[in-house]
Amino acid sequence: MRLSFFCVCFTLSAAFGQTGSVALRNVSVPFTSLEVGNIVEVTITGATPFGTVTVVQNGQPPYVFGTTNAFGDWSVQATESQEYVGSYHQVWYVNGVQLTPTNPDPTYLPDAPRLPSFTVYSNALSSGSPPVIPPSDFNSCGQPQATAYWRWRPVGYYSTTSFGSSTVTTAIGRWNSAQSKVPLQSDSTISDIWVYDGSLPAGTFGGAALYTQGCSPCYGERIGCNGACMNSSAMYYVDIILNTAAINAFGTAASVSPQDVAAYVITHELGHALQLGHSQPLIRRGICSEVGSVMYESVSPAFFCGVDSPTNKDKTAFNSAYPSSPGHCAFNERYCYGDMCP
Ligand SMILES: [Zn+2]
Repeated sequence: MRLSFFCVCFTLSAAFGQTGSVALRNVSVPFTSLEVGNIVEVTITGATPFGTVTVVQNGQPPYVFGTTNAFGDWSVQATESQEYVGSYHQVWYVNGVQLTPTNPDPTYLPDAPRLPSFTVYSNALSSGSPPVIPPSDFNSCGQPQATAYWRWRPVGYYSTTSFGSSTVTTAIGRWNSAQSKVPLQSDSTISDIWVYDGSLPAGTFGGAALYTQGCSPCYGERIGCNGACMNSSAMYYVDIILNTAAINAFGTAASVSPQDVAAYVITHELGHALQLGHSQPLIRRGICSEVGSVMYESVSPAFFCGVDSPTNKDKTAFNSAYPSSPGHCAFNERYCYGDMCP
């Protein structure tokens, strides 16, 4: 009896049609805002079979777009051009029945186009070279102060993140490929940079805490191996904290590997460890053409746009922070000793 009951239900449902759903997608770069040159797609699923598809756009009269297939599905693609730049409000129907929009996760995919309202943007000028961390942004020992730089090389890094050593190695490799003045080297004993899991405020995927020699007992000494003075403009140590909950949730929302997201976040935070601030200006429309630097301040759209390695703009910024290599210290040499600075 129970089986036949379900059977009747299913038959009734099919006979009377279904509400159906409609989704809007940037096919060219999923989960980023639409800009000129992108391919956009509208997909209808589970609506009435062989039904008439109409759209009401910006309050205009209904426009008949096509007919659903035997499964109640339909889709269309188009390329955005300059004439389509603007803001849209679209309500979709099949046989006059309004379809329910299926939209991406609003928290982790804020730039993804969604119904009923979305915008098509013109291409933008990309963000410029990031500045060397301005003193106002540089927080060390809880106080803003002058920017500090590494005074020795190689800089050792150590990782305990659950995203795995290969994820960290990927990010390290991106910077070691982009520059050779401050080589970063894995270190199991003394770490200049420590990458680890933690929790950060919602919406923050990673953080870098910078400590100068002013925070350390070495302050006021010359580093023994290369003679550099350990004053407050000398870097001492950096924490790179990964917000594992946010990175995992982002990966789930976008169906991408959390390790790939983490590698992107670590690459960005290593930029801070190498004294780079955020690329300016931050005009955040969520389109790829505005992302010019791995130091762009927002994971979305930068991650989806594939700007996951230092760009020429980042290299320019790095070279202004480090016109030449800091002095070499033997790896694992203890730098916290020496003569007092003059
Ligand atoms: Zn940042």
